[in-house]
Amino acid sequence: MEIDRDFVIDQLERACSDTKMYRNDIAIVCPFHADTSPSCMVHISGHKYAVGVYHCWSCHASGSWPKLAEQLGLEVGTNYVPQNPFNAKSRAIKQILKDGEEQAREQFREHMPVGNQPWEHGSFRGLPEEFLVKVGARRYYDDKCEVHRIIFPVLNKNGLIIGSVARRLDKNSFMPWLNAPGPWARKALFPLHLMERPLDKVVLVEGPFDALRLNYLGIPSLSILGTSNWSSQKLSTLEGMRVKKLIICMDGDAAGRVAETKVFEDTDGVLKRKRFRLPIENPSIDPGNMSEELIEVLRDFVG
Ligand SMILES: [Zn+2]
Repeated sequence: MEIDRDFVIDQLERACSDTKMYRNDIAIVCPFHADTSPSCMVHISGHKYAVGVYHCWSCHASGSWPKLAEQLGLEVGTNYVPQNPFNAKSRAIKQILKDGEEQAREQFREHMPVGNQPWEHGSFRGLPEEFLVKVGARRYYDDKCEVHRIIFPVLNKNGLIIGSVARRLDKNSFMPWLNAPGPWARKALFPLHLMERPLDKVVLVEGPFDALRLNYLGIPSLSILGTSNWSSQKLSTLEGMRVKKLIICMDGDAAGRVAETKVFEDTDGVLKRKRFRLPIENPSIDPGNMSEELIEVLRDFVG
């Protein structure tokens, strides 16, 4: 006996004003972080895993129905039976991620989404159209998230496209960035195709937009595509480009500090490197949004 779909939907609609129905899930404003739009997916079809299992794409909170019900002050329901074995939850989360990956595979050919169009839509977050076109930006409609995205191809050192990163064009925070499917991000640096060789100095940052903004402002920069994607392969790529000076500039939050330490240790004795630290008292500051004053401090630091 399992908790039923209608009960869960009814409960969620009582507590959440902004919900969105999908075939197998209902998206709600996440109660586990300061969410502004529906980022938390709650499974409702029960086809593959338990009804009420949730996963937030923004803060990565996840769990089963009782935890969500408690957080929202809702009833757990009399039909709820805890899943057994105990790892049912983590299997369910893996399944949610795998489903997303499968759907993405159908939409992508050669690492770019089917039906992508040239970028002819002006500037994007302060970067002018001319620069975006030079980087290879395109536009497409993401029908899963029902939004247009700007998409950037990610190239390897031989100039071949090995992946892509796409940003939503609206202000919604549900899946803001979307990577092409596959494990390619573990080995890629972005935008490698804008770098000169040999590369005297480069600022290593977390996110693709951070790197784009710095490059646009004349500071050579590469993104590791997220703190979890730093790898020995990326280090080899930097060595191959004969980087003389690496400036490590991760975000000021906890994940950024962990990544900074890892990169600093891995490059010990391999590359000459320095750390540029963003103010920890405001972890929302990153190279993609930092003030022009801070940009100038970084520019001086890079030398
Ligand atoms: Zn959340």
